[in-house]
Amino acid sequence: MDFQISTEQKDLMESVRSFIDERVEPRINEIEETNAIPPEILSEAGALGLFGMSIPEAYGGSGLSRLSRTLVHQMIGRSGFGFAGAIASHTGIGSEGIVELGTESQKERYLPRMATGELTAACAITEHEAGSDVGGMRTNARKKGDRYYLNGVKCYISGGSKAGLITVIARTNSGEADKQFGVFLVEPDFPGFRIGEIYETMGARGHPIAELVFEDCEVPEENLLGAEGDGWIAAMQILNNARPLVAARCVGACERLLEISTDWARDRKQFGKPIGDFQAIRFMLSDMATCTEAARWLTYKAAIDCDNGGATPETVSMAKLYASECLAVVADNAVQLQGGAGYISGNPVGRFYRDARITRIYEGTSEIQRLIIGRALMRQ
Ligand SMILES: Cc1cc2nc3c(=O)[nH]c(=O)nc-3n(C[C@H](O)[C@H](O)[C@H](O)COP(=O)(O)OP(=O)(O)OC[C@H]3O[C@@H](n4cnc5c(N)ncnc54)[C@H](O)[C@@H]3O)c2cc1C
Repeated sequence: MDFQISTEQKDLMESVRSFIDERVEPRINEIEETNAIPPEILSEAGALGLFGMSIPEAYGGSGLSRLSRTLVHQMIGRSGFGFAGAIASHTGIGSEGIVELGTESQKERYLPRMATGELTAACAITEHEAGSDVGGMRTNARKKGDRYYLNGVKCYISGGSKAGLITVIARTNSGEADKQFGVFLVEPDFPGFRIGEIYETMGARGHPIAELVFEDCEVPEENLLGAEGDGWIAAMQILNNARPLVAARCVGACERLLEISTDWARDRKQFGKPIGDFQAIRFMLSDMATCTEAARWLTYKAAIDCDNGGATPETVSMAKLYASECLAVVADNAVQLQGGAGYISGNPVGRFYRDARITRIYEGTSEIQRLIIGRALMRQ
């Protein structure tokens, strides 16, 4: 693989890294306690172009390549998964549908405001009875005249309670044909839409997840994304394109944990010397560094394949699976390395440990990634 990060990409990473380390990191405890991101941090993120990275330049974004977006997500992962979640659900699954499938008029209506962060986007696929089994979803859309009427309940939707635009996947058949779905752009003030429960979570605080309720929710026909019946392929494409970004945030989180852990191993003394002098601690750090490096290359490979139009679902799944499982090990080791101090509330390693847990669940659990990889192996 011929691969180099350009000077421009390095500068981009550096500007995002300093924003995260200097502006977001000092406010993390406040974000944890309030479960909200301070508006001024969101404005600064907007000014830095973080909300517009996946939106084409023609609509006010920066239209970054998939690899460049991956590098940005790697840097935002340094802060954990709370603030990063707000950028991620908007620029990942929230934007993918409209950017890839939107008509000119849909793009003109929504993308310029999405690019600045004035309008934030979410994507609603999961339901109480249909998580891993996306095809089991019950939310349905019936067409009457020039409107679709959506009925159903979506759950655990990142940023769903604050989003100005929600990409909703709903069943368009009456059950006789398999996997007939449509994709709809829903605004929160459409009649028949309401926010249900807002969930408390063990980690990734700052960007709450919500239940979204559709009761004869009226969606104008011009808000159908793509053709009716294209929803299954669209949902899979949205997830496929967004998964390298989850992997990238995991890599960023691993890198930050490695920095914290090596500093600790140099400073903390036991038995008269730094604990980093003990072979057991060095082995722990070596394992953390090695899986992080492997995760980084799998992630870059998936992103480059996406840019070249040749990313297979299994390549993307391998990156998401490996990077999230690597983060679990790295976060666990980071706590272990600090002994009792690692278990005290307010210590960043404990927050990363809680945050990390979600990455093996959302955008397809580790088991589902393994199913995708295994299915491809059996086909070969
Ligand atoms: C913080 C957070 C943010 C989220 N954000 C969003 C969002 O923005 N939009 C959205 O649509 N959804 C979102 N989700 C939902 C998330 O994608 C689902 O929770 C996830 O896909 C798993 O579905 P489930 O919770 O129903 O678990 P289930 O599907 O019930 O799975 C339970 C367990 O069974 C395993 N399992 C299921 N089927 C199989 C199988 N065939 N083989 C082997 N094992 C299997 C799973 O891997 C898992 O371990 C979010 C969830 C959380 C917690």
